[in-house]
Amino acid sequence: MKITSIKSHVLRYELEKELGYSQQYYKHRTAHLVEVQTDEGITGWGECFGPGNIALANKFIVEKVIQPLVIGEDPLNKEYIWQKVYNLLRDSGQKGMPIQALSGVDIALWDILGKKTNTPLYQLVGGKCNNEVPVYGYGMMLQKKSVDELIALFKEESKQIKSKNFKAMKMKVGLGPNQDLKLVRAVRDSVGKDFKLMVDANHAYNLKDALYIGKGLDELDIYWFEEPVAPEDYDGYRELKQKISTSIAGGEAEFTKYGWNKLISNKCIDIAQPEVCGLGGITEYLKVAALAQANFIPVINHVWGSAVSIAVNLHLLTAQPDMPGGLFPSKSMLEFDTTEKNIFITDLPNEEFSILDQVKNNNGFASVTDNVGIGINPDEDFIKEFEVNE
Ligand SMILES: [Mg+2]
Repeated sequence: MKITSIKSHVLRYELEKELGYSQQYYKHRTAHLVEVQTDEGITGWGECFGPGNIALANKFIVEKVIQPLVIGEDPLNKEYIWQKVYNLLRDSGQKGMPIQALSGVDIALWDILGKKTNTPLYQLVGGKCNNEVPVYGYGMMLQKKSVDELIALFKEESKQIKSKNFKAMKMKVGLGPNQDLKLVRAVRDSVGKDFKLMVDANHAYNLKDALYIGKGLDELDIYWFEEPVAPEDYDGYRELKQKISTSIAGGEAEFTKYGWNKLISNKCIDIAQPEVCGLGGITEYLKVAALAQANFIPVINHVWGSAVSIAVNLHLLTAQPDMPGGLFPSKSMLEFDTTEKNIFITDLPNEEFSILDQVKNNNGFASVTDNVGIGINPDEDFIKEFEVNE
């Protein structure tokens, strides 16, 4: 089998209301799909992490930089293709956009392997460790409102997320240390003390402010404090982890086994959040997961993007063993977007694919199907409708 073409599709639509996280507000939802075609008529689908105009830059890298390197290669030689591309891009991008672009291509190669061998992805990566995966809802994004208005909105939204049967939920912070603690306290009051609540700062803080917030979170029984400091600040992560008792989660902005090796060996995190669509694809994710396992760090994947990304992550989590194992192990979770209806999740696939219904009807859990490969295929007309050609 030979790769005959690699196409990249950037999809975009305007949200009804602007949403934000600690770094910026945004008005558009984007997704970046990668389509790898072969001479046997099998097409594989992947996805690249990278919102907004980053997706357009990544499209250029996928089509103009990576495609010429792998046209004519056998798509089943995933490791060879990964190493070849990484090696040739090494001088220009060991992290960031080239690796995000490579991720989407690599995922599509795994989809091709699944379709070629009639096997679902979870079986290709080790088989079923879990019949179902608990799902947590992320929402409570920032909005251009006063803190008091945000508090009222977050209280209401947290109740809604809980009523949809999610096992846990995650809120954004980044308004400044005192305002953040006010906001988290309000949400904690709203959801009750026994519900798992996580807080995501998207690397808004220096160590001193993160310590102040972290000590406040310790009092509020927060399940994890995500990306408290900049991803490059390994020392800050390590010191914070030593000084607060809330678990420190991070890694969505870390790339490849090389970056992850540093993050883990510097003892920066209690919970690893690898982003398979950004760190180098499934080939590299499996190595990162092995690194985490070797250091007894729980892996709770970072998930962002369309149904393609969610499907891939559900397979990976289905195949994830308990660490270290026991009668009542702490389970990983699937991260899921609960903000304004995300049509890149609900309306993109040809196949039946509703995580929300599963969560609602199955007490907060979702399961994979035995469809081959990643299990879903994007609807071509849907892609045409939302594709950006700039
Ligand atoms: Mg995050």
